[in-house]
Amino acid sequence: MIDFIFCKIAEGKIPSKKIYENDNFLSIPDANQQIDGHSLVISKKHFKTILDLPSSLGSELLDCIKKTTMKLMKEHNAEGFNIVQNNFECAGQLVNHLHFHILPRKKDGKVPKVY
Ligand code: AMP
Repeated sequence: MIDFIFCKIAEGKIPSKKIYENDNFLSIPDANQQIDGHSLVISKKHFKTILDLPSSLGSELLDCIKKTTMKLMKEHNAEGFNIVQNNFECAGQLVNHLHFHILPRKKDGKVPKVY
């Protein structure tokens, strides 16, 4: 069930605040905020890891990552950011649906744990 949670969010069957979206990707706040503004860029179609994502979708993925990050940095007065992407269980992937963690950062000593 947890593996299809992001499919249901992408289909609008589970409500979630959309930060940004394009044809194949969207971004939402992470349900367990590791740091202020912690968000996820997810694919609308079900791909398990980045290895399953067709390379032809690379520029749309980058568009969603960049637009989401710029919006979050402005909203949270961030000075930097991390992009974290976990693939397969041994590397910390809990939800088997392609996603990228976007973590706005400040010089406040707070360190997010995302794997
Ligand atoms: P990962 O360990 O990289 O697979 O991270 C999965 C992330 O998905 C975790 O940070 C969870 O807090 C997050 N998550 C799980 N369910 C939801 C949900 N319904 N809405 C938003 N984020 C979620």
